[in-house]
Amino acid sequence: MRDQRYDILFEPIRIGPVTARNRFYQTPHCNGMGNLRPMAHAAMRGVKAEGGWAVVNTEHCSVHPSGDLMPEVLHMLWDDGDIPPLALMVEAVHEHGSLAGVQLAYPANYNANRMTREVPLGPMDRPVSGYHPVQVRAMDKTDIRALLGWWKAAAKRARTAGFDIINVDGNFSTIAFQFLSPRNQRSDEYGGPLKNRIRLLRELIEVTREGGGDGMAVSVRLIVDELFGTEGLRVADEGIEAIGLLAEVPDLWDLVVGTWADDSPTSRFAPENDHEPFMTGLKSVTSKPVVGVGRFTSPDTMASLLRRGVLDMIGAARPSIADPFLPRKIEEGRIDDIRECIGCNICVSSHFAMTHLRCTQNPTMGEEWRRGWHPERIAAKKSDQSILVVGGGPAGLECARALGQRGYAVTLAEKKNHLGGRVTLEGELPGLREWLRVRDWRVSQITRMLNVEVFLGSDLTPADIMEFGAGHVVLATGATWRNDGIGRFAHRPLPLSPEMPLFTPDDVMTGNNPVGNIIIYDDDHYYMAAVIAEKLALAGNEVTIVTPAADISSFTVNTLEHTRTAQRLHQLGVTMVTHWMLVGSSPGEVRFADARTGAGYMHKADCLVLVTARLPNNALLDALGGGGDTRSEHTKVTRIGDCEAPAAIVSAVYSGHRFAQEFEDDERMFRRERIDLSSPLLRTN
Ligand code: ADP
Ligand code: SF4
Repeated sequence: MRDQRYDILFEPIRIGPVTARNRFYQTPHCNGMGNLRPMAHAAMRGVKAEGGWAVVNTEHCSVHPSGDLMPEVLHMLWDDGDIPPLALMVEAVHEHGSLAGVQLAYPANYNANRMTREVPLGPMDRPVSGYHPVQVRAMDKTDIRALLGWWKAAAKRARTAGFDIINVDGNFSTIAFQFLSPRNQRSDEYGGPLKNRIRLLRELIEVTREGGGDGMAVSVRLIVDELFGTEGLRVADEGIEAIGLLAEVPDLWDLVVGTWADDSPTSRFAPENDHEPFMTGLKSVTSKPVVGVGRFTSPDTMASLLRRGVLDMIGAARPSIADPFLPRKIEEGRIDDIRECIGCNICVSSHFAMTHLRCTQNPTMGEEWRRGWHPERIAAKKSDQSILVVGGGPAGLECARALGQRGYAVTLAEKKNHLGGRVTLEGELPGLREWLRVRDWRVSQITRMLNVEVFLGSDLTPADIMEFGAGHVVLATGATWRNDGIGRFAHRPLPLSPEMPLFTPDDVMTGNNPVGNIIIYDDDHYYMAAVIAEKLALAGNEVTIVTPAADISSFTVNTLEHTRTAQRLHQLGVTMVTHWMLVGSSPGEVRFADARTGAGYMHKADCLVLVTARLPNNALLDALGGGGDTRSEHTKVTRIGDCEAPAAIVSAVYSGHRFAQEFEDDERMFRRERIDLSSPLLRTN
């Protein structure tokens, strides 16, 4: 049963006219499903409510076509036709006794209105964010009155959809904050001193109340510190003052820090609860509940924040994605069962990919409706077949765990004397310690399963596997970093001198480290080259990271790590070179060509680290003659994870989970949400 120390997390709390059953507040978060995939969206939010989150919010919900968020997949309440997709979510959340909240937003400077082609409106004439050749028009009083009207109409529709809470979004990317920021240079009563700049937020709260009507709670999500130095709003002066000015006006304050990258930093750059210094003392200026975030996974941290009066409710997006059942697990005293977020931000990357939310730790995320997967339940086994899983990395561990949960007799054989595969190695690199949670959660689950046996130090040969006689063999033997230069830019092995010492990430992770003047060539473009650069720079080497891309660690734009990666490398004295493609090496030097112009360059170096691509470890598969359709009666050997196709850890976990879900099941296409072309709605103007 529940540990008494956590009782405080389960005390109900009033939010204006409504009551939350506990202190767990799922803050708004993007998910790539939104109003384009409303069934998938509703099912995902419903699972959060089932898992015990007392308040479950939507993501951004635009109030008017001139605040168009497309092509990002979010929500809108532009007219009554937008109500049903949101009503679906409300129904799913209410079914489990939670409160449903909608986050009304108007992006202003943030978006170019790419779908609607309306002229973007904002506090001042200025270019929109990003590099779209579009400018925002400064709003006049008529525009502001119009905005308030649109907002009120959207609030009325939110009421019709059945929401309990309407959130006025004062995030970085929305109009309320853009007026509030000291960077608003208007000269009328909406600019200048704070009391003027906060006027629009106050008016938005008022029209939300009018539109939402009695019984509807109104919350505000607000940035308390822009992290923009003296140019921006700072918590110590105007941040706390702003909350003081509107202290009792909303029913709840949901407080955040900086841009999305600051609000959701990865574990490489920030620990759990990194916002506490910004939140401390804010409760002293309002009697309304205060929510804050901080990638909370520890119930002790959560309870302590409430007990010490820093927060009233525990806000979470990522921890609720990694484990939708986090509150229920604390309530039921099952702390060890919590699938802790590792802070990798792969979930964020699915927003930029504009497709179903995904999560490294929780492979069922985003698949609740289309594949019918549930984070806690799985279909029972269909037969008494035994399964041998070879390789205990993320793919093999998740596969063995989920097959074990189904009730199959599983044997997991790992050649090393420890489990975790690549995660165990990568977890030792700078900043990646929390990634070990991928291994640790699965190992702790498997350890309690009597039907899953684990053998370490078992380097299985094809003969061992045949002799073992399992009903099915799953190969999860991983992949090895290439040392020939082939990657995205090189299609053939490069002419690399045997006299230029060559290393791969596998070398660096297993202690075979280069020393001296080192070039790290990154044609992988995710985190690996940068964390290796960190490690080697910290060891006192002279490090240069070279990439043919336009930017260092290009993919990490999608995980919000991009700027911080460059900042950290700069602090460590790592030289960063972009647009250079590796073409070869000779003793003491490495040769490059400009990826755009072909111009040649030479760089002196003692050694070269190639971070380009990986090759699947397929020796066992080739010997056993496996592969193919996992459901076929004749297929007795299947490969999963990196030994099928190397990818990020999220893909390996998903691959292992998918095999377990689909084992001995009928083949079926996942469900899709399609436009009904016979609908009469499509034939009206
Ligand atoms: P994935 O990401 O697909 O899970 P990893 O590289 O993380 O891949 O893990 C693969 C695991 O398989 C490693 O721990 C490796 O030691 C193990 N392995 C590889 N070949 C064999 C084998 N022949 N027998 C047992 N284990 C193996
Ligand atoms: Fe956490 Fe990574 Fe899952 Fe996002 S994808 S919720 S950061 S584990």
